[in-house]
Amino acid sequence: MPSKPRNRIGEIYGRLTVIRPSDKRTKSGNAYWWCRCSCGNEREVPSDKLSHNTARRKPTVQACEDCSREMQVEAVYRKNDRDEMERREEAIANRADLKGDVPDRWLKLPLTDAHARELGQTLFFRGNHCLRGHLAPYRINGGCLACAGQSPSAKDLPSTKPKGS
Ligand SMILES: [Zn+2]
Ligand SMILES: [Zn+2]
Repeated sequence: MPSKPRNRIGEIYGRLTVIRPSDKRTKSGNAYWWCRCSCGNEREVPSDKLSHNTARRKPTVQACEDCSREMQVEAVYRKNDRDEMERREEAIANRADLKGDVPDRWLKLPLTDAHARELGQTLFFRGNHCLRGHLAPYRINGGCLACAGQSPSAKDLPSTKPKGS
């Protein structure tokens, strides 16, 4: 008979609150506990997975299965979103400085590769110079249009035509 497990009822691990013991035991004799997630789902968790020590290698359980899956997906999105938001803010700032120096239609292009994809377009203009020093729109997956010989760089353009022409 394994030793009586420490009473964990009421303890909180991430979104989980321990609510009652389970009769289930791991192969090594660890107790399982029923936990309620903040979303209302319950999950049976072995006590060795209920830990506040996040430095240890062993994965801990912090939420019900549904929420755990969601949290993993969100973590990836959050990082990508943050990077993308920074790219867009940078593009907005770059483009504000370029007003009048580049064709107006470039300033109406999507801001980034991802932004162009969202809008179903193929060109975007971040207002930055390519590795060869061109200031020109980019094609998604294709790089700088001036490098591709498909568009002049801003410095080769005649000065902007008056509006309405
Ligand atoms: Zn949950
Ligand atoms: Zn280029």
